[in-house]
Amino acid sequence: MKGLSGKIIRAASSLMLPVDEKRVGECKRCGACCMFLFKCPFLKFENHGSNKSMCTIHGLRPPQCRKYPRTEWEKAHEPCGYDFVKEQTI
Ligand code: SF4
Repeated sequence: MKGLSGKIIRAASSLMLPVDEKRVGECKRCGACCMFLFKCPFLKFENHGSNKSMCTIHGLRPPQCRKYPRTEWEKAHEPCGYDFVKEQTI
């Protein structure tokens, strides 16, 4: 879900709802979700070759950052290190 409305929905839903149990994977620290619509002022990139992103307020980051991507529907970036296990249909 992209666009400003998606960002607003992600911020609101993350205040009340948990991360989907079907989420798997891990953050690859690409920083894409920290630069959506605008670059977060707390985003920095390592300078020693890896170019990995880091949050300078990681311990205090808000729920929409802490839980991203909370659901497959709310996921706005590809590729992302997180994915969601599909339900098997017989
Ligand atoms: S887009 Fe995914 S892999 Fe990239 S920084 Fe955000 S959560 Fe991590």
